[in-house]
Amino acid sequence: MSSRLKRFTDWLKEEDIDFAFVTDPTNVFYYTGFMCHPHERVLALVAFPEAEPFLFCPSLEVRQAKASGWPYDVIGYNDDENPWEKIRRALADRGIGQNVTVAIETDTLPYGRSEAIKRFAESVRFVSAEGAINAQRLIKDEAELASLKKAAELADYAVQIGKNAIKKGKTEQAIVAEIEYELKKRGVEGMAFTTMVLVGQNSALPHGVPGDRQIREGDFVLFDLGVIADGYCSDITRTFVYKHASDEQIAIYETVLKAEEAAIRAATAGTVIADVDRTARRIITDAGYGEYFTHRVGHGLGLGAHEAPSMSGDNLDVIKTGMVFTIEPGIYVPEIGGVRIEDDIYVGEAGPVCLTSFPKQLEIIP
Ligand code: MN
Ligand code: MN
Repeated sequence: MSSRLKRFTDWLKEEDIDFAFVTDPTNVFYYTGFMCHPHERVLALVAFPEAEPFLFCPSLEVRQAKASGWPYDVIGYNDDENPWEKIRRALADRGIGQNVTVAIETDTLPYGRSEAIKRFAESVRFVSAEGAINAQRLIKDEAELASLKKAAELADYAVQIGKNAIKKGKTEQAIVAEIEYELKKRGVEGMAFTTMVLVGQNSALPHGVPGDRQIREGDFVLFDLGVIADGYCSDITRTFVYKHASDEQIAIYETVLKAEEAAIRAATAGTVIADVDRTARRIITDAGYGEYFTHRVGHGLGLGAHEAPSMSGDNLDVIKTGMVFTIEPGIYVPEIGGVRIEDDIYVGEAGPVCLTSFPKQLEIIP
């Protein structure tokens, strides 16, 4: 059994849990090595404190599940079969059917599925597996770090393509298309989330949607994108100015850069997470833009584009060696536009290490 899964089943043992029902595709991948996006069909890792675990998935995925190297049972179901009845029988075969305690992903398991799980036994008590799973996923091992580095390098490359594509009259969507076309040609698995290219006042929307806005002189051009490598996500933001920058645009940019660099330096093992957010926020507030920094300073990164830890001002957890997260302060002034600078940070023994490395001095694109 992999050491990851062993640690999880040890936790089931310690907590006296009869079985865990894990359905989040990234969690299933983390423990099994099998990546599957089942849409509305049922995908589950069912793990026990002592007995061998099994994977449950649509029949059309069984061959790939077996080929992924998962050494235990794979149970498939056809579209005309009731998956829940099939799982119930598999559990009954393992002697489960009376009073059971089941670990579930309380943050993501749909209510309807929790009702279906309740019918697996006469009486079912739920406990949350979130804490145990997140604590494991929070600290990245060597292999995960290598994949995250690969994803970060691809993100740097993607920003370079985007930067090269900046031209008068070009639309946000046209640049998105160029970035993704070049990445596909390089064989990337996919984007970690919808690629954002936002120009002019659109850049003031932290979660804006690229459209047909064309680049004009004096616009901010903001790229926020991520690439997947071996299942792991990167997430980078860079902001450029086209042709010429006003004094206020320069002031905003330099403030964000100063805040970002200070927050990265502060992100050492042993530091309280809230203090990293505060470090960036103080610099932005002192420059007079406090009200325009409208989100937390970052978020954890891994198999998920957003995962633990939340790098927010109310998180009193302490940074640990092996964590990976973004640092991404921003200033968004509706009439002028927005600047965000985002890097992916690995907390090493010797301090924070930037996985993304695209230059971040203000660049005015001629
Ligand atoms: Mn981002
Ligand atoms: Mn981010």
